[in-house]
Amino acid sequence: MTMVQPQVQNVVQELAARISHDDVLRCIRCGLCAYTCPTYRVEECESMAPRGRLALVRAVIEGKLELSPRFAEKFYDCVLCAACTSACPSGTKADAMLLEARHVLFDAGLVPEPVRGLLERLETRHNISGEENAGRLVWCSNMEHAPTGLGRSQAETVYFVGCVGSLFPMSFSIPQAFSQTLDLAGVEYALLGGEEWCCGYPAFISGDVELAREMAAHNLEAVRQAGARQVVVTCPSCYHVFTHVYPELLGEEALAGLKVLHATELLADLLESGALRPAAVPIRVTYHDPCDLGRKSKVFQPPRRVLQAIPGLELVEMASTGANSLCCGGGGNVESSAPALVESMAGRRLAEALDTGAELIVTACQQCKRTLSSAARKRRLRLRTVDVVELVWQALEQTHSGGSR
Ligand code: SF4
Ligand code: SF4
Repeated sequence: MTMVQPQVQNVVQELAARISHDDVLRCIRCGLCAYTCPTYRVEECESMAPRGRLALVRAVIEGKLELSPRFAEKFYDCVLCAACTSACPSGTKADAMLLEARHVLFDAGLVPEPVRGLLERLETRHNISGEENAGRLVWCSNMEHAPTGLGRSQAETVYFVGCVGSLFPMSFSIPQAFSQTLDLAGVEYALLGGEEWCCGYPAFISGDVELAREMAAHNLEAVRQAGARQVVVTCPSCYHVFTHVYPELLGEEALAGLKVLHATELLADLLESGALRPAAVPIRVTYHDPCDLGRKSKVFQPPRRVLQAIPGLELVEMASTGANSLCCGGGGNVESSAPALVESMAGRRLAEALDTGAELIVTACQQCKRTLSSAARKRRLRLRTVDVVELVWQALEQTHSGGSR
């Protein structure tokens, strides 16, 4: 048995205080979660499976294992996809315990170096890229028609773009497509620009709860300043943090009078009411459920309703879909510390997509799009990934240019 040093004793106690021994013991070690765990399916070693990670937590709580940077890595390599919790027959909430472990590891200073860099960028620049936050509207600088939300400081609706869509050129097409769609539908919205900070989810899942709380408070204040009653987001992580984590960080009343929608929820209604009339897109597609939107926020049907509203489009499901969907690998901030692992996870999801015979993967997340697209490029696969808002805009543009709108 490894003796626990006095200086880490407090951390062990903290871990034991935040993760109850009874909750860990709920795991009956059946191993059913392993098949659903994307990191286990790539690495095939027990310490990268949910069951193995929980065994590590238990060993630390019981004083049988010393906390170390190597221990921390096992937790920061988890994509927090929640597939384990969804599959577990004994009701073990492995993903919640693994997230709690990250919070304790952060407090203990056991954060992997790349994640520390990400937290520094969030603290100093208020976004994940490290760019000047004032440049958050660069995505619309070259658009033929500037989004109407650009010049509007007050509106019923705020379009909260998120860091990836705002600052990563590969994803600019997503806010471009969505803002044009809102304009076409006559939805009045405001963009927050530099007043939009990172939603706080990357800080929260890295363990820095106080930084996440600061970001949550800032963003809600910016939304209130705009006089909005509704926030619409294109990013599933923004959606999940607004709807599930902000109330935890700031209290339930923090969101009083404010409705939060993912873009697909708004689009499904606009398409079904006839406010948007897309042209036919005769193509066979498969839909990849983003973990933060689907399994973790239970938004499964709106993106499918959007796809079904596009004439001529055929939707085929992958072998693992909905609540059982396989993560693309892009979650949990793992990209910062283990890019090769992420790439392998994405490869597995691409194989499932290829098996459907689809010509296109559609998702509802800029991070899933980035992860799957770059893995497909590395494998020289002719299988593109697009965001559902891009596909909708493509169909609307055809109607628009055909003069039938
Ligand atoms: S499925 Fe649940 S009970 Fe079975 S090994 Fe995984 S966490 Fe433990
Ligand atoms: S949250 Fe996902 S990656 Fe993490 S242990 Fe569970 S199934 Fe594996």
